[in-house]
Amino acid sequence: MAKSNYKSKQPATNKVHYRHPSKTSCILCGSKLECIGTTQRQLISLQEKTKVAIQIRRCVNKTCSNHKANLKPLAYQHQIVFGSSYGIDVYGLIGHMRLAKRQTIPEIHQELRRGYAHIEIGERHVENIMNQISLCIELSGKNAVHLQEYFSDQSGLILSIDGVEPEKGHSILYIVREVISGKILFAHYATYTDAEHLKNEILLPLQQTLQQASLAVLGWIADKELSIGKAVQEVFKGVPFQHCQSHFLAAMKKPLTKEDTQLGKAIKKNSVKSSQ
Ligand SMILES: [Zn+2]
Repeated sequence: MAKSNYKSKQPATNKVHYRHPSKTSCILCGSKLECIGTTQRQLISLQEKTKVAIQIRRCVNKTCSNHKANLKPLAYQHQIVFGSSYGIDVYGLIGHMRLAKRQTIPEIHQELRRGYAHIEIGERHVENIMNQISLCIELSGKNAVHLQEYFSDQSGLILSIDGVEPEKGHSILYIVREVISGKILFAHYATYTDAEHLKNEILLPLQQTLQQASLAVLGWIADKELSIGKAVQEVFKGVPFQHCQSHFLAAMKKPLTKEDTQLGKAIKKNSVKSSQ
């Protein structure tokens, strides 16, 4: 039989179960969030290909608009791009290579293949991702008509903001999302990350767009340790603000996960050696 050129896809090398922190309550009404199920998918980040399980919750209060929403943990939402199997960090890096380092699409593709063997990506994919990033950045602050249409069924928006740093010391890609739909509302590479720049470059243009679109912001979720948390509370005065507990916990867990992996590898190596 002729040998096929088809290269089978690599299996996921890690499993992660994202759960809502146990004490999280509804940002809109303060009621309890009940678990209504779990969904599964694969996610390709810069680190690895992961099989992820995502816990879904909803607000128990039947009169609250979050009662009909499928709420996914923010620690999960902060890592994805809605509708894509590639993580937000892959998007952040591709955008950075193209926009800041002026690399061509074939150069970016080659560098990803060389540096990240687990990322199965074609040149066409890289181009599509780049087009998506460009469009997202270009339309940020100018897409009132689209947003009004997109959220026409929703009584208001719950927003979250997060930053991805593709390379240490370089600009950070800030993403503003709507929590229930996962829709990205605003994307911007910021060179200066103090509250004043973030207000002028992201939050004030976003606020203006939302006003044009007649969309109300019901709540904000962000890491209050960052200057962005402070800036959000200054621009969106009086809007309920929730400290992103899951994000904080994920950041705390990161060094531990790395040590766990290294430990796992060391054990594996030793057990292979001892069985030889
Ligand atoms: Zn509620």
